Amino acid sequence: NVTVMNRDTNKVSTTFKDVAGLDEAKTEVMEFVYYLKNPERYKEIGAKIPKGALLYGPPGTGKTLLAKATAGESGVPFLTMSGSDFMEMFVGVGPSRVRDLFAQARKLAPCIIFIDEIDAIGRARGRGGLIGGNDERENTLNQLLVEMDGFSPNSGVVVFGGTNRADILDNALLRPGRFDRQILIDAPDIRGRHDIFLVHLRPLKVSDPPGIEKIAQRLAALTPGFVGADIANVCNEGALVAARESVNKIELRHFEAAIDRVIGGLEKRNMVMS
Ligand code: ATP
Repeated sequence: NVTVMNRDTNKVSTTFKDVAGLDEAKTEVMEFVYYLKNPERYKEIGAKIPKGALLYGPPGTGKTLLAKATAGESGVPFLTMSGSDFMEMFVGVGPSRVRDLFAQARKLAPCIIFIDEIDAIGRARGRGGLIGGNDERENTLNQLLVEMDGFSPNSGVVVFGGTNRADILDNALLRPGRFDRQILIDAPDIRGRHDIFLVHLRPLKVSDPPGIEKIAQRLAALTPGFVGADIANVCNEGALVAARESVNKIELRHFEAAIDRVIGGLEKRNMVMS
């Protein structure tokens, strides 16, 4: 059933200004932006654009965000599916979803496909998995390889894959003509956290003084180990705490309370995992 696809075929409003830090990664994906804006030029001159790139790094660091912003910068549709969505109880569903996704993309080209958690399909053969049978997963992976080999380099379809586990991926996925580029999306350092705080504080009513710049600096120093997703969470939690107190500006102390909450959540998560 195609309707279960998590699809966003409208023009995307997310752009690079929504993505803080990740400067090198942005530079790398610019190649695709130039191409998607003007595929004809590449065709005429005979330049072959890579078919795709693997975005890899820890959870919550902005892989999905960067893929979406690349579509936004290029002004093209963004089709997204998670690797685990391909895995179903019923034999044959995975491969047919892959076929549908690429058929859709060919119709919408130029466009970007993003397959999150690509390791759920692309785990090296012979390794077990929790969801779906192994044969089904291999068939799904094979279908993905067939689709990636099947479209010509200048078809206007760019495929991004996202994973936290690049180390377990089947080498077949990383061969030339498939995910030929691998782009690291790493956890932010203090400057990166500061910049991410700025992005997420900007839409909020923050008390001034001290102002958003000072608050971002302070919060970045308080949050070693936090990734973008945690930072977005802190900003929203801070706003919730302030709203409950019915003050009309969010103060530093609200965000500090939010950090404690988020750290509490992270500790719980780690306890469950270990
Ligand atoms: P996962 O591996 O768990 O799928 P991910 O790397 O794809 O995670 P995203 O889903 O892109 O992470 O990030 C979640 C949210 O965190 C984003 O929607 C955004 O609000 C925030 N975020 C993450 N990284 C950044 C960043 N570099 N700049 C601004 N916001 C960020």
